[in-house]
Formats: sequence, structure tokens, C-alpha cells
Amino acid sequence: MNLYLVVPCYNEELVLADTTKQLDAYLGGLKEKGIIDNAQILYVDDGSKDTTWVLIEQLHERYDHVSGLKLAHNVGHQHAVWAGMEYCVDKCDAVISIDADLQHDITKIEEMLEKYSEGCEVVYGIRNDRATDSAFKKNTALMFYKFMSAMGVDIIPNHADFRLLGSKALKALMAYPERNLFLRGMVRLIGFKTANVYFDVKERMAGNSKYTLSKMLNLALDGITSFSVKPLRIITMIGLISLLLAMGEIIYVLYAYLTGETVAGWTSLLISVWLIGSVLILSLGVIGEYIGKIYSEVKRRPRYIIEKQI
Ligand code: UDP
Ligand code: MG
Repeated sequence: MNLYLVVPCYNEELVLADTTKQLDAYLGGLKEKGIIDNAQILYVDDGSKDTTWVLIEQLHERYDHVSGLKLAHNVGHQHAVWAGMEYCVDKCDAVISIDADLQHDITKIEEMLEKYSEGCEVVYGIRNDRATDSAFKKNTALMFYKFMSAMGVDIIPNHADFRLLGSKALKALMAYPERNLFLRGMVRLIGFKTANVYFDVKERMAGNSKYTLSKMLNLALDGITSFSVKPLRIITMIGLISLLLAMGEIIYVLYAYLTGETVAGWTSLLISVWLIGSVLILSLGVIGEYIGKIYSEVKRRPRYIIEKQI
């Protein structure tokens, strides 16, 4: 079988040489064991500003199974992984996406391939814990998963983008033409037999995290707005609740008016404020429902994916 490793790199000059050495040794071992016939390491340079690309060129000279893609500007981790996967879709039997800093445990690749040979088209790498992450990273990540599921996005907790896709799953994924990528959600949509592989997160080999807080927030927003209409539903709910409150308020205001405890104009003013306010929020929610429909239409996602045919 022919394996591709897709490794997105953004300003990773400090780790690439080491990463290549480790991956090369590990993949060589898999080849000797006869688990794979061929493996390519595909580095996707996501518009780095340092010497990452020069390094990739040198590594390409030195190792015959290292190749590279250079993106013209920084498009973010998700799009870099997509670029790599799109590049190798017709060239491989399976593709594994893995971070350049090797925080993902490469020794689990064998287990992933085992699951693949048992017929799993999707194998998720899932973190056991976050012992090596800073408290900030740990808590923001935890909040991320909680918030995502509260917003109605179906993702696997503690699964970052360390994942094996068989060629069938990869082709199916490529049939999703949307521009806003949130791979963790999209892979869940395609189906197929899946498996989980658990790993311990390692320390970043060198350099700093390239996932800044703003990049993480962008990822969360992309995930929510690409996968859930729940925020729009929440508007409808708020509208309904305020309409109910308005009813209560109107009854109270009328009662006060009839018992003569009011100033002139107070009653009509309060009634119109509450009624117009709640009707406006509710209308926004209704419009939101239609916008949600338009949004899912323009994404032109495939309606179904065929797994087998006899
Ligand atoms: N990355 C990328 N483009 C970006 C940010 C990050 O390709 O804009 C890559 C980065 O080089 C690494 C992977 O995405 O291979 C994960 O990033 P990082 O390790 O910095 O994130 P963390 O592990 O801290 O979440
Ligand atoms: Mg990392």
C-alpha cells in the first residue's frame, strides 16, 4: 500500500530536520515489516516567513521520498492540510495528516494502518490527556469543545487533525466544495467505518505554537457557522420568549391602566415597545431560518456518498 503523510508547516524551520529524521526512520521500519510498500512525506509550506521552504527543498534533495508544496500565502492549518490531501488524492491508498512539531505520536501510525487494513476508512487520533500543554492551552481547548457541542456542532472531543483517511474517504471528502473548511466536522459527515486510536500528546519539539488565540477563535467560528444553524435558532427562541414576556407585560400594563395608577401615555408606550421589540426579534429569527437554508444550499454538499456497489 501507498501511504502519504501530509504535514502542514507554518514557520517550522526549527523542527523540520528533526521531524524528517524521525518520520523517515519510522516509515523505514514500517516498510521493512511489510506494512507499507511506499511512503511519501508531503510538506505543505503554508506561506511561512522563515526558511521553511528552503529547508523543505534541501530535505527533498536528501531524502527521495520527501516532497513539498509551497502555498503562496498563509491560508491557515485547515486549508494547508486540504491542499496536501487534494494533491495526493489520486496518488495514494491512504493519507495521514500530522503536525510538523510531532506533538502527535508517530508510533501510533502503525495502529492506524492496522485499523485501515481492517476496513476502516477513517481513523481518528485522539489525545489521552493534555498533560504537556500549558494551563492556558488546556483550558481554551476544553472550552472550545464544550462551546462547539453547545452550539450543535458534532465533533469528537480531543481529536485534533491527526487522522488517517483511506482513499475512498479522501475522495468523498474532496466532493465537498465548500470554502470554509472545518475538517473535524466535515470528516464526521462523510460516514464510512471509523476507528479511534489514542495517543499521549508530546511536548512541541522546538519553537512556539503557531495556533494563536485569534486563529483558534477563527477555527471555532468557522466550525460553528459552517456546521450549525443553532445560533439562528437561538434568536427565534429569544423572540418567542420575549413575545411571551410581552404578553405578561401587556396584561400588567392594562391592569394598571384600568385601576387608574398610570400617567397619560405610559400604557400605550409600554405596549408598543414590548410588542414591536419581540415581534422584531422573532422576525429576525424567521429570516435567519431561511438564511440558514440558503447557506446550506450554496455549500452544495453532496447529498450522499456511496460506500459499496454490487
Ligand atoms: N500551521 C499551519 N498554518 C497556520 C498555523 C499552523 O500550517 O497558520 C501548522 C503548524 O505548522 C503545525 C500545525 O499546523 O504543523 C499545528 O500547529 P501548532 O503545533 O502550532 O498548534 P498547536 O499544537 O499549538 O495547537
Ligand atoms: Mg503543535
